[in-house]
Amino acid sequence: MNSLPHYIDGAWKKSGGDTLAVDNPATLEVIANVPLGTSAEVNEAVKAAAAAFPEWRNTPTNTRIQYLFKLKMLLEDHVDEIAQLITLECGKTLAESRGELRRAIENVEVACGMPVMIQSEFSEDIARGIDEYMIRQPLGVCACIAPFNFPGMIPFWFLPYAIACGNTFIVKPSEKVPLTMAKVFELIEQLDLPAGVLNMVHGGRDVVDTLLEHPEIKAISFVGSTPVARYVYERAAKFGKRVQAQGGAKNPIIILPDADPDMTTKIVTDSVYGCAGQRCLAASMVVTVGNHSAITDQLVDAARSRVTGNGLDEGVQMGPVITPQSKQRIESIIQEGVSEGAKLVLDGRQGARDAKGNFIAPTILKDIPLDGKIVRTEIFGPVMGLVHLDSIDEAIQFVNSGEYGNMACIFTSSGANARRFRHDVQAGNVGINIGVAAPMAQFPFSGWKSSFFGDLHGQSRHAVEFFTQTKVVVERWLDTWSRTF
Ligand code: NAD
Repeated sequence: MNSLPHYIDGAWKKSGGDTLAVDNPATLEVIANVPLGTSAEVNEAVKAAAAAFPEWRNTPTNTRIQYLFKLKMLLEDHVDEIAQLITLECGKTLAESRGELRRAIENVEVACGMPVMIQSEFSEDIARGIDEYMIRQPLGVCACIAPFNFPGMIPFWFLPYAIACGNTFIVKPSEKVPLTMAKVFELIEQLDLPAGVLNMVHGGRDVVDTLLEHPEIKAISFVGSTPVARYVYERAAKFGKRVQAQGGAKNPIIILPDADPDMTTKIVTDSVYGCAGQRCLAASMVVTVGNHSAITDQLVDAARSRVTGNGLDEGVQMGPVITPQSKQRIESIIQEGVSEGAKLVLDGRQGARDAKGNFIAPTILKDIPLDGKIVRTEIFGPVMGLVHLDSIDEAIQFVNSGEYGNMACIFTSSGANARRFRHDVQAGNVGINIGVAAPMAQFPFSGWKSSFFGDLHGQSRHAVEFFTQTKVVVERWLDTWSRTF
């Protein structure tokens, strides 16, 4: 099997470096070979992007967004084909893959509004006859480093904004799921963008390090686990770059006794088990407050009835986890929970019937000890942890004592309790009777605490601010210089 090429300077380039086999997580068949990239190849991409920058930044914003309108139509026309690839390499169901692509396309649509979003401020007469205004200008070459779990969506939190603002861009997809972006770049090739404006370099750690250290790269957008996010943030900052680094999560959901039981059960189990729990907005800890036995039984029944299998198959509701190592890691966390004293009320470790992929069926650990390790550990798999607390105060305190702050949700029919939760909770994305509080493209993806390192988030106006630098001009024109012709 040939290894996938990079896309550099408007052309496909074969890598000279080592390669890695990519498996279909549902069947363990090898579906691609991905190059691990080399520093020389990164340098080539940066050189092309730097060469394209002066002309691209002088291209009017209204002209730049025409490429994005075309990209939206191409993505729409290929949704099914790309969704198949996402499911093939990432494992999620086809419906989940299509949903992911909708979110990618929404970002292209919002970035098409760049002529308005990039507008700035003007104050006339800040002193007599003097005006002051601010303009936003692009930074230069920017790059993003993506995780495995949303191969079609996450680069779009950055890419359309970066180029609409006048920057040139390099995408480094996750080496675990390189096929989706390879397909997206086939579509990008059809845009007839000037060569070097958009580039893709495959690879792992060495490629990341070269991107972080390259003097010509001005900004890095990273999404992945917290230890790597922290590393990327520190290293890129050391090399003088702007950084936005989104990290891991351990998302809690609080269920108050007045929550609607049927709606809550459906939404909470979708949140925990959607994408096999491999979403940074997957609920991981479910906190029931007060009277809880009925809702607990309902959650267990709903989890048990979920169909696990190959995401390409009709009727399957949950696919595999990404790698055998991931499966092993999740299974050992489940075991650790049991050792810590939690009750395993639903054990998914038998996986899916007749399947040899990386399957774990829905799992529930109940009465997790609050002083244990797994109450704080990101599992990133289809495991619900249940704890019971006596009051909303204790529940909010529990949420706020965690290391992460990606998302927190509450289920209740009390507006006053919901408001209190929204006001006091230390998380950047909040759901009220919502289980996956994923911000639409016109809002920033607002992780807090160890779920985010930086200042400006991906998507929305935050992305416009991240991908531009401000220039403030103070201007005087004397009346005595006026001329009559
Ligand atoms: P990961 O951190 O292992 O990898 C992310 C990227 O970093 C990949 O492109 C990889 O090649 C690179 N990388 C990995 N190790 C590296 C190292 N030591 N040095 C330099 N680069 C390295 O993450 P993953 O397993 O691909 O993705 C899952 C994680 O991403 C979870 O923790 C999840 O919560 C998080 N995530 C967060 C968000 C968010 O918005 N906060 C969104 C999606 C995923």
